[in-house]
Amino acid sequence: MAEKDFYKVLGVDKKASQDEIKSAYRKLAKQYHPDINKTPEAQEKFKEINEAYEVLGDEKKRANYDQFGSANGFQGFNGGNAGGGFGGFSGGFGGFDIFNDIFSAFGGGGTRANVMEQGEDINLQMTISFEEAVFGCKKDISISRIEKCEECHGTGAKNGTEYTTCPDCNGTGRVRYTQNTIFGTTIREGGCKRCDATGKIIKEKCTFCSGKGYKKVNKIVSVKVPAGIDDGQVLRMEGYGNAPYKMGENGDLNLKIKVQPHKLFVRNGFDISYDLWLPFTTLILGGKVDIPTLDGKKTTIEIKELTQTGTIMRLKNKGIKYLNRELYGDMLVTLKAEFPKTLDKATKDNLKALANQTAGNYPKYKKFLDMVK
Ligand SMILES: [Zn+2]
Ligand SMILES: [Zn+2]
Repeated sequence: MAEKDFYKVLGVDKKASQDEIKSAYRKLAKQYHPDINKTPEAQEKFKEINEAYEVLGDEKKRANYDQFGSANGFQGFNGGNAGGGFGGFSGGFGGFDIFNDIFSAFGGGGTRANVMEQGEDINLQMTISFEEAVFGCKKDISISRIEKCEECHGTGAKNGTEYTTCPDCNGTGRVRYTQNTIFGTTIREGGCKRCDATGKIIKEKCTFCSGKGYKKVNKIVSVKVPAGIDDGQVLRMEGYGNAPYKMGENGDLNLKIKVQPHKLFVRNGFDISYDLWLPFTTLILGGKVDIPTLDGKKTTIEIKELTQTGTIMRLKNKGIKYLNRELYGDMLVTLKAEFPKTLDKATKDNLKALANQTAGNYPKYKKFLDMVK
């Protein structure tokens, strides 16, 4: 499909709200509706507008479009159908009913019409580092897949020309036949036997693929991993899978993302957290501590006097960027008291003095003692 800027098609800004998009769509759809606008270009324009709205009018599809554009066919995550194909306009709307139920009208987009047989999907696992998941990355991966033979353009015939169209199915590869059953006569459709559902009668075989029309090849595929992707999510690259053996469309390439753990940060959605162990004296006396952040820099946090162990500090927007959105999670730092590994006599004496000095100044402990009395 040719690359189109859906935002330009609708004449809206990239940051336009859903209301703005909807309103722009309505205006243009009215202007170019084939029932109203009889100019030759109206129909094409109307189709374009609908294609654009089908994507931009749906937050999920829009997010994918923003991230991947229309060129490389990424379709979403979790193996989902978020993208659903950008070319799903089915046409044939009556009058202006369309405006009353825009969403149901476009809900079923992206069906693969007239698919005879689909190439198989390729499912792979792709391991990326914690940072690559957080910031996104580009990776070239090597896959082995079935591709159409280029020498014969997938026909299986020498030079791609030494074949004739199958007369039984007129080149469609499918035939209808009637079947008499106890329920009466039924019409069924199935693969054409004469041409093995290829639609072609080969006169002379292609020597590069032995007449099969396809070959197994090793291919380097460039994968764009969006910032914010999480462990276990699936990147679907539509059409990057195996070519079909006979007729139909390519399968998809599904990449299950495996994110390697970080040595410090633990991810929870778009928040990150970790335990920060500090000398117990720092928690008591307070102080300033430099802590690492996701971007590899440091930030200074201030520990207040008498901070209890287990206190969680929330650093706003220091977490992971949301997929396709200018929104960030938080960083949660749990402050924990670490005691010295050994005690010499002088320290011990000091601590004993401290224990005496602070006795009776522990309200939680006192409450507990009262409870067990
Ligand atoms: Zn046939
Ligand atoms: Zn060939």
